[in-house]
Amino acid sequence: MPNFPVAFGQQMQSILGEDYHAFIRSLDSDAPVSIRHNQFKFNPFKDGNPVPWCKEALYLPSRPEFSKDPFWHAGCYYVQESASMFIGNIVQQLITEIENPIVLDSCAAPGGKSTHLSSVLHENGLLVSNEVIKTRAHILQENCTKWGLNNVVITNNDPSHFSKVKSFFDILVVDAPCSGEGLFRKQPESVSEWSESAVEFCSNRQKRILEDLWPSLKPGGFLVYSTCTYNKPENEDNLRWLSKQYDVGSVEIKIEPEWNIDFKKQANLSTFRFYPHKTNSEGLFVTVVQKLEQSDYKNFTHLKNPYFHKINKEDFARLQEIIKSENIFLKQQPNGMVNLLPESFYEEIEFLATRLKVIYCGTPIAEVKGKDIIPMQGAANSIYLNQENFNQSDLDLDKAQKFLARQDFDCDAEIGINLVTFNSVPLGWIKKMPNRINNYFPQEWRLRNN
Ligand code: SAM
Repeated sequence: MPNFPVAFGQQMQSILGEDYHAFIRSLDSDAPVSIRHNQFKFNPFKDGNPVPWCKEALYLPSRPEFSKDPFWHAGCYYVQESASMFIGNIVQQLITEIENPIVLDSCAAPGGKSTHLSSVLHENGLLVSNEVIKTRAHILQENCTKWGLNNVVITNNDPSHFSKVKSFFDILVVDAPCSGEGLFRKQPESVSEWSESAVEFCSNRQKRILEDLWPSLKPGGFLVYSTCTYNKPENEDNLRWLSKQYDVGSVEIKIEPEWNIDFKKQANLSTFRFYPHKTNSEGLFVTVVQKLEQSDYKNFTHLKNPYFHKINKEDFARLQEIIKSENIFLKQQPNGMVNLLPESFYEEIEFLATRLKVIYCGTPIAEVKGKDIIPMQGAANSIYLNQENFNQSDLDLDKAQKFLARQDFDCDAEIGINLVTFNSVPLGWIKKMPNRINNYFPQEWRLRNN
């Protein structure tokens, strides 16, 4: 067990009372390993105990070497801490009453919750997934591309920039940067970063984030606020601050008693806590409130100068072969890249592009270069890929890992562009030449230490 600061022990004793010793003991046990399957792709896991609050998720008996598994690179599953999957469950409950929901995941990298929310929203909703730190925004982009749905817009903005999109989102998810007490078992190094002043710093930063983002939530919309920490300054105190500052109401979220989530209703507001001695997970705090204030702010929009261009008929006919979607909606960027967009949210996407730093949207499926149409990685990972329309080369494990590591390998393939697959699951593209293979797997994504 890591050596905890005395102040942390005292704090946990005052929160947990009698349960304190069970909590401390649980930190000596192994952290569970859980994955969430992508229900639109092949499922490589058949055995494992279910995660009670997420129907696509399993606890695995041991930790496989995920980074060498081609199915992981293909977006068939995401390795995610089980408590975090509760956010997807909550959003699933909230959207039952909302037509065409637009959700902001405001602190989104590396993308555990965003990939989940993208599946929850599927063809009914739009997810705006934001990450302020540029390098982390690229990891988020990689994970969302691999996941393969086309309902995500990724932005790389500071929370304060969202003042430009007032009353826009139906649901605002704030999975706030925090002092990480709930991860002490999984990441013991975070213990040495903990201090009372770090907690205070995090709490103030969380208030700032909430204050910046609040105007972007529609009247009647929902805030889902979470941290992976237990202390009150970052959780209840912020909730209290929020309800003094703004007009907020409570929201009913259904949970089952056997899930063992610690549920409290204080001053009409609900809080949920996951503790490792009660749920098979790390620590998490969640609360959900509704925005009651009214606003007569009217959003947008007439598309005067759209960012995306129409595609000419000839190119469209050829591009259409890549994708099997019934409602195929393709638009071209000024640089020639073609994106598969969710048609019902096209205006919203154009609007966002005028206000925020959009770095990714829909699925980039191809590049038009003169007469050539070059399929992109996003097409290989897309759940809408028309796989039968391509020459395919199925690789064994060793060759699949070499492909993912961008190392040399040989394979049977037709001359020209081929989709490479592993057990028929698409991994990416190669161009077979008479005497070599060009590997189009993105350099920045390559499997290292193969
Ligand atoms: N939601 C993510 C997931 O499920 O994979 C985890 C998010 S993590 C708890 C918090 C994120 O907030 C980090 O990606 C971090 O870079 C970002 N962050 C850090 N400082 C921030 C700030 N001042 N405003 C907004 N986000 C910030």
